[in-house]
Amino acid sequence: MSVFRRELADRQPDASGRRWLFVPYDQLSDAVGPLSREDPNELGIVLVENLWKPKRRPYHRQKLALVLASLRHFALEQAARGVAVRHVSGDAPYAKLLEPVARELGPLRVMEPAERELRADLAPLVRKKLLEVVPHEGWLTTQEQFEEAFAGGRAWRMDAFYRLVRQQSGILMRNGKPLGGKYSFDADNRKSWSGKPPAPKPPRFPLDPVKEEVAKLVESVFSAHPGRLDPDDLPATASDAKRAWRFAKRHCMELFGPYEDAMSRRSRTLFHTKVSALLNNLRLLPATVVGDVAAMKLPLSSQEGFIRQVLGWREFMHHVHVATDGFRRLPDGSEPPVAPAPGDAGYGRWSGKKWRGGRAVARIDGGAAPSALEAGEPLPAAFWGEASGLGCLDQVVSDVWETGYGHHITRLMVLSNLGTLLGVSPRQLTDWFWVAYTDAYDWVVEPNVLGMGTFGLGELFVTKPYVSGAAYIDRMSDYCAECAFSPKKDCPITSLYWSFLDRNQQQLTGNPRVAMPLRSLAKRPAARRDHDRRVTEWVRDTLAAGKALRPEDRPEE
Ligand SMILES: Cc1cc2nc3c(=O)[nH]c(=O)nc-3n(C[C@H](O)[C@H](O)[C@H](O)COP(=O)(O)OP(=O)(O)OC[C@H]3O[C@@H](n4cnc5c(N)ncnc54)[C@H](O)[C@@H]3O)c2cc1C
Ligand code: SF4
Repeated sequence: MSVFRRELADRQPDASGRRWLFVPYDQLSDAVGPLSREDPNELGIVLVENLWKPKRRPYHRQKLALVLASLRHFALEQAARGVAVRHVSGDAPYAKLLEPVARELGPLRVMEPAERELRADLAPLVRKKLLEVVPHEGWLTTQEQFEEAFAGGRAWRMDAFYRLVRQQSGILMRNGKPLGGKYSFDADNRKSWSGKPPAPKPPRFPLDPVKEEVAKLVESVFSAHPGRLDPDDLPATASDAKRAWRFAKRHCMELFGPYEDAMSRRSRTLFHTKVSALLNNLRLLPATVVGDVAAMKLPLSSQEGFIRQVLGWREFMHHVHVATDGFRRLPDGSEPPVAPAPGDAGYGRWSGKKWRGGRAVARIDGGAAPSALEAGEPLPAAFWGEASGLGCLDQVVSDVWETGYGHHITRLMVLSNLGTLLGVSPRQLTDWFWVAYTDAYDWVVEPNVLGMGTFGLGELFVTKPYVSGAAYIDRMSDYCAECAFSPKKDCPITSLYWSFLDRNQQQLTGNPRVAMPLRSLAKRPAARRDHDRRVTEWVRDTLAAGKALRPEDRPEE
């Protein structure tokens, strides 16, 4: 018998006469919903350990271990509180695994799943009245607030939503006015980092027999999946989550704002909190982190900067996901194409590994596949760890496969930037982000990549494509110092940037935020534009062949 099963059996209370809840893998909290209010001695929870979901995509091993270890620890914690636990294991859609359980125990309740994939999977049980969906109490804002912010057909913009939410919640407000006289201090938060002040070292978490067992299981069952599994970096228990948050408050928050956009080889995390995976599985509540930070004595640029991320961006992304049904239905009535089956972003092809996914399953498709700029190139092997010769890309990719983590600017201005400049399919890039990061779930990864990272949805909720040449990366990071290319002389990313503008000129004309770069493009001599195109072809062909770029192979000007 496994350590986990033995421990659960030891703690398991009498299960008779209980009301039962289904608790999905990303709702591991007893501080919201029925678990927070109802007598634990009258409640039971059903937890599903499902091999079928992780087999659908080549998820990072660290992510699989975090999900599984968190679920098991939550089961043990709830059993210790007196809640009965039905732990179901299987290899089939959730609806299939839960139906016999609901028939035996009586109809289950569930807080509305955040992920569309899970909502779609559970729909038949809801129709059969075997599952009742109750509101998800983990969000800080409502869909009505989102609609109110954009009443009258106003364009979806995060800052308008955030302003309304600040006003209505009173967070960082005094006498109806924002603290410090403005709602955003973003403009103050663009410092690069020289190595000083020193960045804190992220915490490690105590290893225990349950985590060890999960790590072994993942290493054997999912041995063909990518990524390094680090058992000491699994914040899976309630006390690990508290420890992670204590660390973030004590060591990250003071300088969170100013260095928010900096990137460095010497610190993957800088002053970022690394709490997204814990917020997204509810081990930490958004209400707790926002409340705590609002109550702290901090420089306003850091305090507001952090609160905007959680109360603003995180909530906004969730509402965009809900309002578009995961981008299946856009506000103008259009319906982007949908990928027929979950994609592996080329993992099988590049790795040569026979991971077990890719099966098409009724009801579960591969997600919306919009591409406003008609980008459709396959993702290069460089994203799976083949050296590209581009120092920034290779560093960030290796960090992700080492840890399952990367902060916002590395995701936006290195990975998405490169993907967008190369014209990679937004869906493929999204599939890659989904499997690579421990905090990725459809509701958050799709808006961030399809919408923000790649401009795949045009101006639906961002004002411009987030693209840059080498100058930005050089200014905000120390990556260029160790690169074979020089940001001022021969970095191919600058040519990629100009040829991106050239190629997409027609679609971008009329966008006021791109007007200046387009004017600069118009002034660029024809010979240089031709050179940009040739460099782009060289980069695409070399990376498509899984090879590394070398300065000496760069096309002559
Ligand atoms: C291309 C791209 C893909 C992304 N994919 C994901 C994803 O799959 N899952 C995810 O949680 N975040 C995603 N983000 C948002 C953001 O990068 C991460 O939330 C953040 O880097 C997590 O690290 P942290 O906890 O140290 O964040 P911090 O910098 O410490 O920020 C604090 C918190 O703010 C929230 N937050 C900040 N920005 C966003 C945002 N745009 N969307 C949602 N929450 C936000 C997160 O919960 C984060 O923990 C993505 C961003 C981009 C540009
Ligand atoms: S020189 Fe170019 S490729 Fe190299 S790290 Fe800098 S931006 Fe990246």
